[in-house]
Amino acid sequence: MSDTKCCQNPPYTRDLQSKKVYCKTHFTKRIETRVRKTINRYKMLNRDDHICLGYSGGKDSTVLLYILYALKKRFPHCHMTAITVDEGIQGYRDECIELTRSTTKKYQIPHEIVSFKKIFGATLDQIIKKSRFKENSLSACAICGMLRRRALNYAAHQVNASKIATAHNLDDEAQSILMNLVRGDLNKFIRISRFPNRKFQIFIPRIRPFVHVTEPEIVLYANAKDLKFHSYPCPYASSALRNDIRLFLSDMVEKRPSTLRNVVNLHDSLTQYFPQVSSQTPPFFCKKCGEASSHAVCPICQLLESLGFENPLESEKKS
Ligand code: SF4
Ligand SMILES: [Zn+2]
Ligand SMILES: [Zn+2]
Repeated sequence: MSDTKCCQNPPYTRDLQSKKVYCKTHFTKRIETRVRKTINRYKMLNRDDHICLGYSGGKDSTVLLYILYALKKRFPHCHMTAITVDEGIQGYRDECIELTRSTTKKYQIPHEIVSFKKIFGATLDQIIKKSRFKENSLSACAICGMLRRRALNYAAHQVNASKIATAHNLDDEAQSILMNLVRGDLNKFIRISRFPNRKFQIFIPRIRPFVHVTEPEIVLYANAKDLKFHSYPCPYASSALRNDIRLFLSDMVEKRPSTLRNVVNLHDSLTQYFPQVSSQTPPFFCKKCGEASSHAVCPICQLLESLGFENPLESEKKS
């Protein structure tokens, strides 16, 4: 039986699940509709939100910037600021930053760059170099992820944003769910939420409008729209568990294309039964930097102190 086509335009891609063939126009419209539906389904945005978008210049955040920019035209009271986090990875981040500058200028989107060096007093390169000599040190991506979350939250506060948008896609989401399942970490498994959640004033709610868009779809969208993005691999990219899960899932998707959606939809259904557990995290605040933390001293202040770095977060709290 031959595949069904969306229209008479030249074919661009074929959906693995439905086997339907799409032209560029219908494919890109389909992705935009899905993002709009995701935003509505999880009540991600209000009409007057100031969205702070984590924009690295990679494919995912570039496509999200483009789609949110297009969506924003329908919401004249919405604002958007793109935030680029400069982790301080020599020879990797510099070129991306130039690209983020030119793209935001093109679309006239306010753009801020925040650096690990300024916020934490050290670049990721310096932190990783020292942490390698420590026993039980975290992986580069675990350290980077923790610092990036704090840096984005910091930047979002600076511009008075009401939401932080990140470009995590369906592949990332399914990987995170399975990683916590494999680790047996019920607390983190439950805490993954697609609904914006403001537990403490200090945390700005996060939204992930791409949680139902796959990584290959994002690449196809970027190419269909001729969007410029950087695709150099980060020299530290190697989280062992995430890579194992990624390989496992890509194998599964080849045999069963609905796998990623099934994982996320099942997680949606399961987490409905755990609302009390997910909101039980105690409201402690780090005695050094003042951020919400489940420890007396937050993991970032602990890390900076253990590596002997001066902690600008601490002096900021005192001043
Ligand atoms: S790959 Fe890891 S170290 Fe590199 S930017 Fe991403 S999270 Fe940070
Ligand atoms: Zn078509
Ligand atoms: Zn702290």
